Amino acid sequence: MRIDILTVLPEMIEGFFNCSIMARAQKKGLAEIVIHNIRDYTTDKHHKTDDYPFGGSAGMVMKIEPIDRLISELRSQRSYDEVIFTSPDGEKFNQRMANNLSLCGNLIILCGHFKGIDYRIREHLITKEISIGDYVLTGGELAAAAIADAVVRIIPGVLNDEQSALDDSFQDGLLDHPVYTRPADYKGWRVPDILLSGNEALIREWELNQQIERTKRLRPDLISD
Ligand code: SAH
Repeated sequence: MRIDILTVLPEMIEGFFNCSIMARAQKKGLAEIVIHNIRDYTTDKHHKTDDYPFGGSAGMVMKIEPIDRLISELRSQRSYDEVIFTSPDGEKFNQRMANNLSLCGNLIILCGHFKGIDYRIREHLITKEISIGDYVLTGGELAAAAIADAVVRIIPGVLNDEQSALDDSFQDGLLDHPVYTRPADYKGWRVPDILLSGNEALIREWELNQQIERTKRLRPDLISD
């Protein structure tokens, strides 16, 4: 899958995609993340990507022309399943959306900045608007990184142990169970005895019970009984 991220601050996220599992996914050819600088698509001598809002309210607004030029160029090269805008008033991102997006071939993610983007971009060029939570960030870069990470992570082959993505929190409607590693006793803080018992069936049952108990206690909204 290919994800094109459109931003005025590529350096904010380039490092992120060059690390760890995101870097490995790209090296393995399972995902291609291409970060574009919107400023490269300006035509004026000051390379302006923002301007004052009509109506005189506070803050700067991202201009249409460079964004339209960039999206048009990308669309002329391949077809995109979605052109996503990161926005606090978008649909709240969750695992189900990540699963659906991970089935796509090509995605564009546009990062807003300043006060936001000229609304006509949202009306005419954007097909999906996503928020990563009810709070306001300075720009869409962290949101784009969070979305791309969650989407790429579940592409088969990206994680070494594929199963580990399937039983993570939210995949099966339940939070994950606690996990432990050596030493079994640290300063008297002991790992539950059952995990040291070697009894596979009882351990799986304990894990499931933990998932149900923790979900009921911490996220009762996820349990629809
Ligand atoms: N005036 C806007 C906020 C602008 S914040 C409003 O009140 O809705 C600048 C940019 O940061 C936004 O255009 C968006 O791209 C990004 N952003 C901020 N908070 C976000 C969130 N919770 N989820 C996704 N993107 C967000």
